[in-house]
Amino acid sequence: MDKITKNQRSWNMSRIKSKNTQPEKIVKKFLSKQEIKYRLHVKKLPGKPDIVLNKERKVIFINGCFWHQHKGCKRQAMPKTNIKYWKPKLKRNAKKQKQDIKQLKKEGWKVYVIWECEAKNENRLIKKLRKIL
Ligand SMILES: [Zn+2]
Repeated sequence: MDKITKNQRSWNMSRIKSKNTQPEKIVKKFLSKQEIKYRLHVKKLPGKPDIVLNKERKVIFINGCFWHQHKGCKRQAMPKTNIKYWKPKLKRNAKKQKQDIKQLKKEGWKVYVIWECEAKNENRLIKKLRKIL
């Protein structure tokens, strides 16, 4: 039986779209160390990318594993409750991001995605960032 308490459920919800997540913190720290100028959550661009490097014309999406259904990742697990509500919603999300990325590429942006779970290993994430930049 899967019974989650009300408190737990609201916690689950609250962590879904939180800003300034662990990966975001690591990325910001890295960028400022390199003295790279960036902007956060740019509303004007498709999909509102989390990190935008104007000069380099690169954008980085920091994806929550659940919210963006990270394939093969433990954290993508569907909630046991309200599955009828979540499933289509998450599917729409994934589709929407694909379209956003396509559009950004069309406009000449290089697009990168960082997953929430990648922040578990800070060194590995930094290596990835080095490659991106
Ligand atoms: Zn993941």
